[in-house]
Amino acid sequence: MSDLPGFETLLLDRPADNVLRVTMNRPDARNAQDLQMTYDLNEAFNFAAHDAETKVIILAGSDPHFSAGHDLRGKAGKTLDDFTPISTWGGHGAPGAEGRLSREHEIYLDVSQRWRDLPKPTIAAVQGKCIAGGLMLAWVCDLIVASDDATFCDPVVAMGVCGVEWFAHPHELGYRKAKELLFTGDFFTAEEAHRLGMVNHVVPRAEMMDFVVAMAAKIATKPLFALRTTKEAVNKAQDAAGFQQQMATAFALHQLCHSHNMQVHNMAVDPGGLAPSVKGRTDARLKAKPAAE
Ligand code: ZN
Repeated sequence: MSDLPGFETLLLDRPADNVLRVTMNRPDARNAQDLQMTYDLNEAFNFAAHDAETKVIILAGSDPHFSAGHDLRGKAGKTLDDFTPISTWGGHGAPGAEGRLSREHEIYLDVSQRWRDLPKPTIAAVQGKCIAGGLMLAWVCDLIVASDDATFCDPVVAMGVCGVEWFAHPHELGYRKAKELLFTGDFFTAEEAHRLGMVNHVVPRAEMMDFVVAMAAKIATKPLFALRTTKEAVNKAQDAAGFQQQMATAFALHQLCHSHNMQVHNMAVDPGGLAPSVKGRTDARLKAKPAAE
């Protein structure tokens, strides 16, 4: 019997000595990150952090796509009240901008920060589509290996918001390409991501997981304390370069965009940028509830 915990939205296994693989497993939803998956991931990472057998963690997505981003289809019957808070902001149910900022602090900003600082090496194995919130999941990992068919995109400027909540774009892509890819919302390829320094390796899809497991196994032969301190040293170098300050400013601007959209469109995003299927439901909602705030 496995010694690994079970999760509604994740599969955990040990593909090599001292390597734990966390596989997001909502393939029908293209591994979109809903509340359940957010808290499952946090619990799985907590387990990995404290598990004596784990030195390296792989974050993967069950085929065909790594992650389509945040699940905007609703809360699958659950609310934040159904989960134990990770952060200390509280006030998730407060009206207006207070509640939204609190919720997004909890489920986007603080969890991403927490996972980025997990004191063991993490490797994202990315195949297929990696969109918006999917980028956040890949970016919080220390290394990113992409299959040759992987494509990436942050399309949320079209939805009236200045990029996803974990605004690592300038650090991951460089300032100029970050602007271009945010302004246009264009997909970029694994090769392009590799050229920009966002991705460590691009590997044929059929070989990607073997490559990632071999890399994780190699890292796992090193002393854990040296791995932990090396990670901390590099993360602190990034922080010293202004990462945390820039992240806080971008998050505040992100909240300003949501508030602006609420005032103008009576919803947190500009419906003009939503996919047609989502927009249909949105139009019905707007008819039922005229703009007020
Ligand atoms: Zn947001």
